[in-house]
Amino acid sequence: MASIFTKIINREIPSFTVAEDDKHYAFLDINPAARGHTLCIPKKEVDYLFDLSAEELSELTQFSQKVAKGLDLALEPIRTGVIVEGMEVPHAHIHLIPIYTPTQNFSLGKKISMDEGEMAELAETISKEIRL
Ligand code: 5GP
Repeated sequence: MASIFTKIINREIPSFTVAEDDKHYAFLDINPAARGHTLCIPKKEVDYLFDLSAEELSELTQFSQKVAKGLDLALEPIRTGVIVEGMEVPHAHIHLIPIYTPTQNFSLGKKISMDEGEMAELAETISKEIRL
């Protein structure tokens, strides 16, 4: 059965798109740990990030770097942090989480509340700053 993220890539489930190329997709996390929390995924459905080939992992990392640079330009955090966990969704993904203050609680357990209108506006703002 297709993962929820494959359904998102195929537009069977809606998401707030941040960036896309032929092999990767980036979209806002539905339960953000911070404003701009973005997931970068390979279109190829593989559960465990480190089961990707070295080339696929390198390409996903390079895609994530471009998305992170866009987050930095659009939202001006101190920097953008990275978390890889993958215990909830069995489709490899890299969490990009902007860090706005030195004391920000940087964890997937901490969620902020944003409505759909704010998420849509945010995705558009970020996507304009990403150069793939
Ligand atoms: P992990 O698998 O690394 O624990 O985290 C999975 C992440 O995917 C979570 O942060 C969760 O909020 C996010 N997520 C789960 N389902 C959806 C969904 O349907 N849409 C979006 N945009 N994010 C999702």
